[in-house]
Amino acid sequence: MGVNLEDQRNIHLDVAERPKKDPRAFVSPVRVPADIRLVVMPQGGHDDYATLFHEAGHAEHFGTTRPDLPVEYRYLGDNSLTEGFAFLMEYLTGNPQWLARFTGMKESKTFLDFASTYKLYFLRRYAAKLSYEIALHSRGLDQAPLRYKEHLESALGFQHPEQHYLVDVDDGFYTANYLRAWIFEAQVRRVLRETFGENWFEKRSAGIQLQKWWSLGQKFRVEEMLRDLGYGGLDIRPLLDDLLA
Ligand SMILES: [Zn+2]
Repeated sequence: MGVNLEDQRNIHLDVAERPKKDPRAFVSPVRVPADIRLVVMPQGGHDDYATLFHEAGHAEHFGTTRPDLPVEYRYLGDNSLTEGFAFLMEYLTGNPQWLARFTGMKESKTFLDFASTYKLYFLRRYAAKLSYEIALHSRGLDQAPLRYKEHLESALGFQHPEQHYLVDVDDGFYTANYLRAWIFEAQVRRVLRETFGENWFEKRSAGIQLQKWWSLGQKFRVEEMLRDLGYGGLDIRPLLDDLLA
């Protein structure tokens, strides 16, 4: 795509293994776009690649944001947008053309089945979390431990200890941002495929388009971005089509 990390002096990668380093990966936009820190602690396995690409999506988004935008558009706004761009990069690691081209994995069906199951697990988990969190914030703490267990177990089919009913909660309904981002990502990826072809990730023209979107920071909500792409707003069908396929 012509996006060259080595030329981006404002994006700093910390991917070294160190004892006591927190295993949870994150991007810290210290100064947008001048100083972006990407931190990953490699654990081994496919998840390191998915995580690195997810965080790289955030880093490219913040690192490409125009420096002359007002601070609100550089730091604040609809986080579904940056999560959507993060998912867009993350799910390259579940794209058969990308796997063949960059990892040499020609027979990827078994891995793709696994990757899809893993994604479906996250979608069901976050849908269950959102319905639990809405109940928590509207009905209060009474019965909340039991409600947590029931919501998560009915969606996922394995045990969830009641004791996690407050630990496993995302502040400010961030859970909803992820769900919005999953829907947004599938819609944007469909546009990229239709415009630039199945191997859009190898096209400079796709890179230029992405850099244009990234340069806007979080000025627009995902619905506004999608209307610009010809959709009516968030539409779950592309995501469902992916999973059914
Ligand atoms: Zn993220």
